[in-house]
Amino acid sequence: ETKTLIPDKTVQTTCTYCGVGCQLEVAVIDRKIRGIQAPKTAEVNEGHTCLKGRFAFQFYNHPDRLREPMIKKNGTFEVVTWEEAYDFVAKKLLYIKNKYGANAIGGFSSSRATNEENYLMQKMIRVAIGTNNIDGCARVCHAPTAFGMQQSFGTGAATNSIEDLKEADAIFLFGANPLKGHPVTGAKLKQAFMKGVTSIVVDPVKTTLAKLATHFLQIRPGTNVAILNMMAYYIITENLVKQDFIDTYTEMYDDFKNHVLALDMDALSELTGVAKTLVKNAAIAYANANRAMEFHGLGVTEHFQGSKTVMLLSNIAMMTGNVGRKGVGLNPLRGQNNVQGAADMGVQPHQGAGYLDVNDPEIQHYYAKKYRINKMPEKEGLKIPDMLNAAIEGKLKALYIMGEDTIMTDPNTNHSIKAFENLELIVVQELFMTATSKMADVILPASSYFEKNGTFTNGERRVQRVNKVIEPIGNTKPDGQIIIDMMHKLGYTQPTGLTYDAAKIIEEIADVIPFMKGLTWERLGTNGLQWPINADGTDTKTLHVNGAFKKGKGTFHHFDFEESPEIVEHGTNYPFILTTGRELEHYNSGTMTRRTDNQYLLAKDYLEVHPKDAKRKGVTNDDMVKIFSDRGSVTIPVKISKNVKKGVLRTTFHQPEVFINIITGSVGDKETLTPEYKVVAVDFEKI
Ligand code: SF4
Repeated sequence: ETKTLIPDKTVQTTCTYCGVGCQLEVAVIDRKIRGIQAPKTAEVNEGHTCLKGRFAFQFYNHPDRLREPMIKKNGTFEVVTWEEAYDFVAKKLLYIKNKYGANAIGGFSSSRATNEENYLMQKMIRVAIGTNNIDGCARVCHAPTAFGMQQSFGTGAATNSIEDLKEADAIFLFGANPLKGHPVTGAKLKQAFMKGVTSIVVDPVKTTLAKLATHFLQIRPGTNVAILNMMAYYIITENLVKQDFIDTYTEMYDDFKNHVLALDMDALSELTGVAKTLVKNAAIAYANANRAMEFHGLGVTEHFQGSKTVMLLSNIAMMTGNVGRKGVGLNPLRGQNNVQGAADMGVQPHQGAGYLDVNDPEIQHYYAKKYRINKMPEKEGLKIPDMLNAAIEGKLKALYIMGEDTIMTDPNTNHSIKAFENLELIVVQELFMTATSKMADVILPASSYFEKNGTFTNGERRVQRVNKVIEPIGNTKPDGQIIIDMMHKLGYTQPTGLTYDAAKIIEEIADVIPFMKGLTWERLGTNGLQWPINADGTDTKTLHVNGAFKKGKGTFHHFDFEESPEIVEHGTNYPFILTTGRELEHYNSGTMTRRTDNQYLLAKDYLEVHPKDAKRKGVTNDDMVKIFSDRGSVTIPVKISKNVKKGVLRTTFHQPEVFINIITGSVGDKETLTPEYKVVAVDFEKI
């Protein structure tokens, strides 16, 4: 007998996982969340969710949830009151600040948390502590997108909206597998591919979309710059550039053109492993389209030449006039629900809220006035990898971490552990006892996204409401409330009052960030607003219309391919290139999805191995192998797959049993230090 359950109430909110930002309708019965559906009226997802979003509630009251503040005493966590925890942390932070200076303290913020909480977190580190040592998880994903697009266009965010897909007659997908990482957008792309749109995929892995694409360039991992230089070469030599657009709206094109024309296509074809004709045909298809829309993911950014690749993608769009109209542009598939928002709010060591340069004395004065203090910190802060190095060198003494499992997600785990062991104080605000929480001195239990109000900003710059569904469980508090309390203990009282009120924090954000001027809680409604949000509340679907680049003109940059130091230094002893990716069932480190039914669907990470490599190593499906690099080794089951080329391995990183970051390295994007998770020199053997 089946029984129909009628919810006591339903509340619309925004999914906590990926940067698509789907709207979810959450059903509550007897004060418990019992199910999720997607509202058909939601502009972003139009009644759809993915496998992750559908079950995105089961972790919230999991027995593993941290429910009480705790302080570690003699190696064991003991439950304390909030007052005891706050006093302990504040006393210790002020002691470290007095003894070593404010720059001995750092903060890691979180794309899991709301805009308001990220804004408060960066404010606490800058205003109540007095340092720019604030960074976030964009450092391990899309920092090169923000940096690269700022260099090219002046603004580090998606130029267009996902709805533009309906207008594009060519789609260029580079280094992304949205069917797994951004499933609702991925499904829209799949529909377009199946309907026969011109589609170009560049990836070292033969993904489902690659199989459906009209053009697929299966490159050797790490050769993105080389393949884009080839595409630019053929666009120029086939006379497919939009010279009017270039002359009117851009600068430095001739330098780029001359650089590209001097390149040796045979050599680049050899490097990338892709035949010249394939690249030429793809370049012609892209440039011939009336509206070509580009999407990229971590296969672009998590590389030694990540920022450079983003700038070259911008070049390709500009030289063909594919910027500033509907159905075109550069559209980074932001990995996390609020990674765009966290950067907008100032979770970066070199730019404060609204991307203003913290090194500029006028900007320092601007922030000091807005934050009602006398003086802002003057020196640019450290990025996460630099903070970890500073901890090892004994220069950084304390880390305050909000919702980030650094130990599991950052590369070279043993290096991270060494850094953490050197710290005098580690404070972690978290939902669960993660690998990072275990190393904390103090744990402050946070409320999940169901238990608070706020906003997330999705990958198309859309600020959307996060609506409270239930009261905070146990003795947890919203991250925003914890930060306000902590700032107060540190001697700074938040002008909006001592109670976290998202609507009031939004008023302050709108006052501080110029491109959020018209943002209010009420105006967001059920479908949000895309920034820039004008004073009258109107928003912006397309950036750079009529060449309106923030930096005046769009700028061309030129670069040569450079082999990753990972391959140069370790490639001889470790002849396989490991690249990492995601599965549909799980979200990043799996902290949340491993505590939902998704874990029943997929409970293992696998190593994908080409059949010829498997034969040579004497392994078959489900054999356990040891995979090792210069940093260490892990064991993992094998899945034989023709989706990777010979010499290339692929794995995921959702399960702590494998802990893949033990073997990933310290090479990062030169400009932003984003780790090169996509090129790891390894070898493997059957156990
Ligand atoms: Fe959530 Fe992303 Fe799935 Fe949408 S596509 S339901 S935002 S995980």
